[in-house]
Amino acid sequence: MDNSSSLMLKKPIRLLKGVGEARAGLFEKLGIFTLEDIITFYPREYEDRRNIVEIKDIKDEEFCTFKARILSAVSESRPRRNLTIQKVKVKDNYSMATLVWFNQSYVKNTLTEGKEYIFYGRAEIKYGSVQIQNPVFEKYDPGIKSSLCTIAPVYPLTARLTQNIMRKTIEKALEIIDCGLDEILPFNIRKEHKLCEINYAVKNIHFPEDEESLKNSRHRLIFEELFILQLGLMLVKKSYGSDHAGIPFTRDGRLDAFIKKLPFKLTGAQARVFKEIEKDMESSNPMSRLVQGDVGSGKTILAILAMLKAYYSGYQSAMMIPTEILSEQHFCTVTKFLKGEGVNVVLLTGSMKKTEREEALKLIAEGRADITVGTHALIQKGVAFKKLGLVITDEQHRFGVRQREVLKEKGITPDVLVMTATPIPRTLAMIVYGDLDISAVDELPPGRKPVETYVVDDSMRERINRFIRKKVGEGRQVYIVCPLVDESETIEANSAVKLEEQIAKREFSDLKVELVHGKMKAGRKEKVMKEFTEGNIDILVSTTVIEVGVNVQNATVMVVENSERFGLAQLHQLRGRVGRGEHQSYCILYNMGKSKVAKERMNVMQKTGDGFVIAEKDLEIRGPGEFFGTRQHGIPDLKIANLYRDVEILKETRRTALEILQEDKDLSESQNRKIGEFIKKLVCDREDG
Ligand code: ADP
Ligand code: MG
Repeated sequence: MDNSSSLMLKKPIRLLKGVGEARAGLFEKLGIFTLEDIITFYPREYEDRRNIVEIKDIKDEEFCTFKARILSAVSESRPRRNLTIQKVKVKDNYSMATLVWFNQSYVKNTLTEGKEYIFYGRAEIKYGSVQIQNPVFEKYDPGIKSSLCTIAPVYPLTARLTQNIMRKTIEKALEIIDCGLDEILPFNIRKEHKLCEINYAVKNIHFPEDEESLKNSRHRLIFEELFILQLGLMLVKKSYGSDHAGIPFTRDGRLDAFIKKLPFKLTGAQARVFKEIEKDMESSNPMSRLVQGDVGSGKTILAILAMLKAYYSGYQSAMMIPTEILSEQHFCTVTKFLKGEGVNVVLLTGSMKKTEREEALKLIAEGRADITVGTHALIQKGVAFKKLGLVITDEQHRFGVRQREVLKEKGITPDVLVMTATPIPRTLAMIVYGDLDISAVDELPPGRKPVETYVVDDSMRERINRFIRKKVGEGRQVYIVCPLVDESETIEANSAVKLEEQIAKREFSDLKVELVHGKMKAGRKEKVMKEFTEGNIDILVSTTVIEVGVNVQNATVMVVENSERFGLAQLHQLRGRVGRGEHQSYCILYNMGKSKVAKERMNVMQKTGDGFVIAEKDLEIRGPGEFFGTRQHGIPDLKIANLYRDVEILKETRRTALEILQEDKDLSESQNRKIGEFIKKLVCDREDG
């Protein structure tokens, strides 16, 4: 943009005629301070006023545009103080209608008897006669293009601002800017993706000439927004492209034989995802792949297959897992599956004895540890691999990108596989893990019994308690989870503490009730968990510490207090703690939320057990800003794009961003310079803020 318009954009809206202090205050409530803010305040929807109808065809409660002649002078009545009503009768070719306004005295002097006008408003049909309330209008003039018969923007507003004020103000701002917006999208990209020019797009998003121009403008603005987001994230992560070639792992018949020997047949999803992994591993580009799959979808075997493939190619693998208990579990699983294959599997955790640890480090350094399973201990100094070719992290959300990088740096461009059971909608995953390719294990192995889910309220408490007692009587175990009351861990813990005291002393004083929460000493926590695993505790009251990894097949009832306070993804994780064994399992959600959204969300939980569907629904209902975890990931608010609806454009922009960065990694070539500067500024602003 030339300098004068770029300065113009930062000017306050007070500059505009008709925007005084009071009105500016209203705009500020909507986050509008500058001219730039107001022209990028996009409509929520549009009213199509172009289709002129006959009065006789108007239907009740419909918005309509019609042309009619004023039959008499406007009458005005004053039924009470502060209320005046203006009325007038109009007629078109065939029939009459009554127009009604409230407190709009000016219409008396604007509408002239005998003249024709175009009206737009909402119709009410009363006793067969058509009434239109508060219609907008303009004089009918066949010689001039109507400014009423248009596609009119509708903005999300705040009290005391009207659509008309907003439209007029935006119109004025656009006039002042006078097509001075600078085009930052490189020409070749606009050409390739058929994106219209920026000034055209901004004008037409507010005041579209027709459907086509609206569609093109929307597309361009959404593309731009997502493209900038992708480029920004990729630049921040510096994860695009690679200077080093990766390892081309070989194909080996022994792997096929191993798959045939497995105690089960891979599900369709597992087979498909493993093909994707194999293709990446065999390619000479380093693999960066995220495997998403619900709890129990069988991701572990995929990790094992990949590690076995690395082994057959003569490379070591490392698998990093967030907790000690889970690391040990995985170590056992891997060892069991690979028995007889000649693979040496080693465990490395923080709590190992010094001698054990030194022995493990030696095996790793000498290359005799073919597979190492472990916790964060894996990324500490002093852990040196001889020939690390494959790095796997499980339960990704517990590790940061940085930790993944450190592990990766222990090899020379090893392949990377990230596994997560937190179902993140693809759209979000594409952003959060902008540097990873994504595979989904979206099918459970056969024969799983779905967990029966019930949404209840407090009035059901006695019945639920009887049910819990019955299940305990049958020998089963029960989880009761309390929510995070607020950000404070202490309060969170207190709610569980209080509940535990209450039920341990009253309802279930004859049963073995225990408590775990995040504030407890690690040793105590592990002791309680061990007791529960061994079946010595009937009811475990907890905060969300049990969310990940606990595997107690005999626990069949999951009760969640104040479930409306949890993210759906989190509820889904909690529900995944039961239904792991042969017994039918149940999930009981106490919903205290009265809102429609709360009910809708709980219904989603009741209806489906598919983590991906749940995650998509959560995104759809709550929007990405609210989505579990995204805040920390720093996804900015989007002005026009919608991650749920605009997946296709998101994919397109992601590909385009990768392409452009591969050719020009710091966006310094002349055609990319403008967008490069724009993004660098954005990134700096965010890091400062
Ligand atoms: P997750 O994806 O949660 O890590 P796991 O890999 O732990 O799931 O698998 C859950 C259980 O399902 C394990 O006992 C595993 O052996 C079993 N399993 C995995 N794949 C299959 C399959 N194709 N058919 C039957 N059982 C399977
Ligand atoms: Mg797992």
